[in-house]
Amino acid sequence: MATLLDGRLLAATIEKRLQAVIEAHRQRLERPPGLAVLRVGDDPASGVYVTNKEKACSRIGVVNLGSHLAADTPAAEVLATIERLNADPSVDGILLQLPLPAGLEEGPLLAAIDPQKDADGLHTLNLGRLLKGEPGPRSCTPAGVMALLAAAGVPLAGRRAVVVGRSILVGQPMALMLQAANATVSVAHSRTVDLPALTRQADVLVVAAGRPRMIGAEHVTPGAVVVDVGIHRRPEGGLCGDVRFEEVEPLASAISPVPGGVGPMTVTMLLVNTVVAWCRRHGIAHGLDDLLP
Ligand code: NDP
Repeated sequence: MATLLDGRLLAATIEKRLQAVIEAHRQRLERPPGLAVLRVGDDPASGVYVTNKEKACSRIGVVNLGSHLAADTPAAEVLATIERLNADPSVDGILLQLPLPAGLEEGPLLAAIDPQKDADGLHTLNLGRLLKGEPGPRSCTPAGVMALLAAAGVPLAGRRAVVVGRSILVGQPMALMLQAANATVSVAHSRTVDLPALTRQADVLVVAAGRPRMIGAEHVTPGAVVVDVGIHRRPEGGLCGDVRFEEVEPLASAISPVPGGVGPMTVTMLLVNTVVAWCRRHGIAHGLDDLLP
């Protein structure tokens, strides 16, 4: 039976660490950490994600300084809101919740976020820092996967890792992080020929294709570690990932469930980036470097 890579449990442990960092410094500093989640429009899935992030903030003592703008807000006004948050000294982290309503281009808005306050680690400068191995906020989902692997003691150096998906949000930064941990990494995408032959080479398989239940027993070599980033609402109710869990679990040495695997870790890494930014702004050692791959 595979070890379960339990994101809920690990997220709760990391939240306690973050809470302790905040409590240790809170008395001396004039303000707690602040995170601004900026939501535009009424995408229902985003509503759930934003609420989860706001609840996580209040659990650990991060002030939520977010705004919710109407779907028809002009780009100039969204930009002005980002610039106001950039200038606000009580804000350590800014997150622009995606997707944006039709008509709003995400590129220029993401680029406007102060890289020091980039809680999602998606600013071009911070992706460049990841590429160069320089410190900076890391993309939350792949950083959450790295934390799950580290907590389970999964060795990466010299191991073969395969990432399915090459998006800027997940696949690309995931591959860079695994490579920085000295894994030998292959990246698969929609044009990859004979995907099962490639994924069967993986000691560590990370799936972020956004295709419900596409990865089955034929894609996995016995003993592999499988991380499922995908998240989908099933027509019959409930959630599923990109992996057919019931088929792969008996083969894998470790596997992340959906829900309860990568999802909770994504939220937690957002908090990590915010607390680290708060400490940096105050010149305080945070002791969280192990969570910034
Ligand atoms: P994207 O749609 O941006 O990217 C999907 C990637 O998968 C693309 O690179 C695409 O290739 C590749 N792909 C698609 N189909 C196949 C296929 N049949 N074989 C091999 N590769 C394929 O998705 P995201 O990266 O944003 O998200 C991936 C999944 O992760 C989604 O289900 C999303 O909901 C989930 N997610 C979960 C998070 C969490 O916190 N748990 C956070 C973020 C995302 P190509 O480049 O050629 O098009």
